[in-house]
Parts: sequence; structure tokens; C-alpha cells
Amino acid sequence: MRVVIVGGSHAGIACALRAREEYPDAEVVIYERQGSVGFIAQSIPLYLRGDRHYEELKSYTDVPALERQGIVVRINTEVRRVDTDAKTLEIVPAGGVPLVDHYDHLVLATGSYPSIPLAFGSYGDSLYLVKSYEHAVRIKELMETAKRIVIIGGGAIGVEIARAMRYKDVPTTLLQSHATILDRYVDDEVSSEIIDSLRDAGLDVYTEALVTELEEVLGPDGRRQAVAKTADGRTFSGDGIIYATGFRPNSFLIGGKAELGDKGAIVVDDYMRTSIPDVFAVGDCSTTTLTNVARPVYIPHASDAFRQGEIAAINLVGPRQRINPSQGTYNLNIGTRTMCISGMTFKRAVEEGFDSGIASYRNEFLDLDGLLPREDNDEDPYYKIWLIYERGTHKILGFQLRGTATDLSLYADLMSLAIERGLTVEDLEFVDFYFKQGYANPRSFSKYLAAVVRQQDPRG
Ligand SMILES: Cc1cc2nc3c(=O)[nH]c(=O)nc-3n(C[C@H](O)[C@H](O)[C@H](O)COP(=O)(O)OP(=O)(O)OC[C@H]3O[C@@H](n4cnc5c(N)ncnc54)[C@H](O)[C@@H]3O)c2cc1C
Repeated sequence: MRVVIVGGSHAGIACALRAREEYPDAEVVIYERQGSVGFIAQSIPLYLRGDRHYEELKSYTDVPALERQGIVVRINTEVRRVDTDAKTLEIVPAGGVPLVDHYDHLVLATGSYPSIPLAFGSYGDSLYLVKSYEHAVRIKELMETAKRIVIIGGGAIGVEIARAMRYKDVPTTLLQSHATILDRYVDDEVSSEIIDSLRDAGLDVYTEALVTELEEVLGPDGRRQAVAKTADGRTFSGDGIIYATGFRPNSFLIGGKAELGDKGAIVVDDYMRTSIPDVFAVGDCSTTTLTNVARPVYIPHASDAFRQGEIAAINLVGPRQRINPSQGTYNLNIGTRTMCISGMTFKRAVEEGFDSGIASYRNEFLDLDGLLPREDNDEDPYYKIWLIYERGTHKILGFQLRGTATDLSLYADLMSLAIERGLTVEDLEFVDFYFKQGYANPRSFSKYLAAVVRQQDPRG
């Protein structure tokens, strides 16, 4: 049995390793068009900040390690075409001539590419994208001399990169088209708290700034200037513009043949099968099923890419293991604060037809004489939770947390499980959680939240 995987990033590697485990006699081949495998894009902000741990954190494997596991890895090799009737692929090694390979089972792990500007104008070299190591190197070079940088996009990547700029004292303007930032992840109150803290940290954040035109001009000192113009006539300029407005699925190889869904992602079932026999799609090129959300969506997350890669491997020869739906669980470190989420925002829950409520609860750490990290002019250490629930049943639909300790993201993992399993706030209320010494309220957060929910929406 020959298993061919296109793409040597998280989804492709997870699939190859699991295929090796499940089918010891199979030939497992990865084709990757770049010169390395397993680059962790999350390490880009660390690289830009000059973090000394960046080198160790930028990947978790390499070609020799995979080959020692019996996986054939062909880097610098692009898959140009797939014939799903003949089960063949046209592959092109860098600088070489096209070759033909064949497969019994094909796994597309071709990932995503940064969405490119939907703006008029000519911006030449002034435009910077954020996805690969090469993109990161370009941005770092820009940071060395830039007097100001403009970032377009107030999503997770834009915010993280803006924070890295602030860390290196590079004056930065962050432009967001909507009234709130991180709006795919959090509700308005959390978003406005984060905007305030970004502004307190010295970043210039503009909301409702929809960029419609980009331009490259020469400034009075002869330096190249990038200019972003908004729909309402405002102009923002800098030495470069970083475009961080999201990702699109790289579904071109079977785009015309397979069923495509949200944003053009390859539609897959619970076994990661596409609409074409023996062709699977995993990670950022495919759709994801979310708990409590009616239709599969496009949500490019590394955490899902790993899970989907393994699930495809298990199901290569027949459907054996369904994938758990995703809760879109995500963690973002913004300065010394953690923001983590799982499940739906309140807005999304309403859109999905839930009669929803939102309850919040704040707990303070006891001030242990500066033992905990604090930002300049920061308030007392704390964490705050916003819980989205269904009013009649008290079923947990979503969770957002913001706070100042690093291990807070574990709460998102816990709530991910609760949401997936359809638990109510009362189901969690008296679960045996550890005693939280060091907090003003030492009992479990779930006890306090359950009380708030019942006060707001008494059970019938
Ligand atoms: C700055 C940044 C921060 C992020 N932070 C987070 C985070 O905190 N949490 C989180 O869950 N996610 C995060 N993500 C998203 C995460 O990186 C992606 O979800 C993840 O990389 C998806 O993995 P993948 O294997 O599906 O695809 P990709 O990583 O996109 O990899 C696809 C691979 O396929 C190769 N390829 C494509 N077409 C071909 C072809 N025709 N032939 C050969 N090879 C091909 C590409 O070269 C690439 O290596 C972040 C992304 C960025 C950019």
C-alpha cells in the first residue's frame, strides 16, 4: 500500500507518523515544496522579539527524524497535478524535470496561504505577509530600520505581531476593519479590554478602518513609504505594511474535482474523506466541524491540523475513527496576559439560533509582593472568565478568559471538553478541581459562574 501525503507541515507530519504506526508495511511518502518540514508559525512572534528560545521552538522534527521512522520525505518537491482517476501525481523537484508517481491513498495536507490584499493600488516591496520563515525574516529586516510599521488586520496574527513590534520599540499602527478586534474569538467587552491594553502598551490601534487602497510613495527624505488609505478617507503611512487579514485554503490541486465548502476549503466528512474515493484532506486546506455549529467552517488552526492528520491515517483503508468536533480552542499571549477561548462567542451563538446568555466572573490573585509578572501601569493580577451558555438548559456554549498567569490556557482545554460533551454549568459546579491557594476566591471558578448563571437565568 502506497500512501502519498502532499505537504510536510503539521497535518502532513501527523498523518505520516500515524500511518507508519497503523500500517507498518505501507510505503509512506511526504512531498513538500519547501526546503524543510514542520515549521511552527507560532514561533514567528518569538523570532521577531529576538527570543533566545526561538531556535528550539521553531520546529519539532526534521527530515532525518522522519526518515528514521521509515517515512520517505522529498523536500523541495512540488506536486503540480493530481489525476484522481489514474491515481497518479505529477511531481516537480526544484530545478528538475517533472516526474510521475502513483498512490493508493492520497492525503492532501497542502495547508493555507495568507489572504492577499483586496485593495487597489500598487504596493511593490512595501507589503509583508506572515506565514513562513522567509516572511518572518523579511519582517525582521524591516524592523531593523523602520520608523513606523502599519499592520492591517486585528485578528490573532495582527495582534501578536503588533505586540512583538511593541516589544522591540518599533512604532506601530494597527488597523482593523470592524469596530472590535479579535472578533472571531471574543465578544465586545473582551475585545475592548484588549484594545485598551494595546493602547496602554503604546500601540496605535484604529478600528472601523477598512483599508481600500495601498500605495508606495517616496517620502521627503527619499525613503520608501507605504501608505494605506481607508474607505472613510483616512491615510496611514509607514516603512512597510504587514498584511494579516487571515488565510485561505490551498485547495487548488483538486479544486475542480472535489466538493469545496466555506472559503473554498475541501469538504471532508468525519473521517477526513473528501468527495473523491481514496483522497483525504486534512489541516488548513479542509473544512472543520465545530460543536453546536450547523455547517462545517473554515478555521485554520494547528491544533485541528494535528488531529485531522492522525484521523485520516487511521481511516485510510476504511472508516474506523470519527474525529471529535472542534471547539476552535485557542490561546494567545498578549504581553504578560493570556487570552484563551473555546467554543462560540455570544454573537456566534445567537447567529446559530441559541437563546444565549453571557456570565462573567473575575478572580484576583493575592498580591504576593511582585512575585507575579506585571506590565507597566498594570492593574492587580487577576483572571476574568466570560461564559456563554444556553439560557433554558444552562448548557455551556463558549468560554473566553483573560488574565495574567501563564497556565490559564489549561482552563480552555477543560472547557473545550465540557463544550464538546454538552455539559451544563451545574455539571461542572461541584467537580473536584484543585484548591486554588493564592486566589481571593479559592473555590473553583465553576462554582461562582454557576451561581451567576442561575441568578441571571433561573432554571424552570
Ligand atoms: C504567525 C502565526 C501564528 C499562528 N498561531 C497559531 C496558534 O497559536 N494556534 C493555532 O492553532 N494555530 C496557529 N496558527 C495557524 C497554524 O500555523 C496553521 O493552522 C497550521 O500551520 C496548519 O498546518 P497544515 O499542515 O494544515 O498547513 P501549513 O502549515 O499551511 O502547511 C502546508 C504545507 O504544504 C506544502 N505544500 C502546499 N502545496 C504543496 C504542493 N502542491 N506540493 C508540495 N507541498 C505543498 C506547503 O509548502 C506547506 O509546508 C498560526 C499561524 C501563523 C502564521
